Amino acid sequence: MDYQAVLDEVAAAVAPQVGRGQVARYIPALAAVDPGRFGIALAAVDGTVVGTGDWEVPFSIQSISKAFSLALVLAQDGESIWRRVGREPSGNPFNSLVQLEHENGIPRNPFINAGALVVTDRLQSMTGDASTTMLDFLRAESGNPELSFDAAVAASETEHGDRNAALAHFMASYGNLDNPVPTVLEHYFWQCSIEMSCRDLALAGGFLARHGLAADGSRLLSRREAKRINAVMLTCGTYDAAGDFAYRVGLPGKSGVGGGIVAVIPGRCTLCVWSPGLDARGNSVAGVAALDHFTTITGWSVF
Ligand code: GLN
Repeated sequence: MDYQAVLDEVAAAVAPQVGRGQVARYIPALAAVDPGRFGIALAAVDGTVVGTGDWEVPFSIQSISKAFSLALVLAQDGESIWRRVGREPSGNPFNSLVQLEHENGIPRNPFINAGALVVTDRLQSMTGDASTTMLDFLRAESGNPELSFDAAVAASETEHGDRNAALAHFMASYGNLDNPVPTVLEHYFWQCSIEMSCRDLALAGGFLARHGLAADGSRLLSRREAKRINAVMLTCGTYDAAGDFAYRVGLPGKSGVGGGIVAVIPGRCTLCVWSPGLDARGNSVAGVAALDHFTTITGWSVF
């Protein structure tokens, strides 16, 4: 398979869709991003890394961080997190409050904001510094020691973070946070602000294609745990569009409102696509189209 030719074909096919949708405006620092960007990278389990377009331009990973925080908690703490967060699709927007009251402060899954706040709380208790733990992990897995937080994005999100604060306080009232709300929010926002390129993210998500093996060949997750993260990405990774994403793309995927999506073909490769224009559910319009085209022309999906 000529990966480069495939990615170039995908980029050409989705070019008319680049710039469609809206950049995330509820975090003002993200509203300044050029909606005309598009990049895609593929990191194969044999070590091949290819990309096209803006594949080496850093962007805000936002909710893609939720897949990494879950991996770090499962790796070190096993299954106990599932007492505090579910693993069913929510069918609601990623920042919705409504289910939390019906379900007694237990978020539906770890990839909506409420669920990620619980996972971040657990990572904070385990490590004493959840956001630096994640940054160090991403530097090691991507092989890029230059990765960093974007302080302006973190500050912008803190300033406009009433919704996430409400989710966190509500869960705290049910006893589902161990750390103070401001601490959990701070680490959650810093994790979301990490800047990475498609290349960095395809490499950093490689352990999900390698059935849990880290970049240095050591075992980060058991095969079973890696399967579980991929399964939750498939059913919940694109929020209330997860059904449509599975229908069109047929792969585990995790999106973020920075316009990035990481998708995994277990045993084969990890992909990352980036284009900042979002659909109404917060997923990249050109990004989903690119992954749809990729799995269509290659025939590679989990189905
Ligand atoms: N930091 C964003 C938020 O909390 C992440 C949301 C997303 O990428 N879907 O709202």
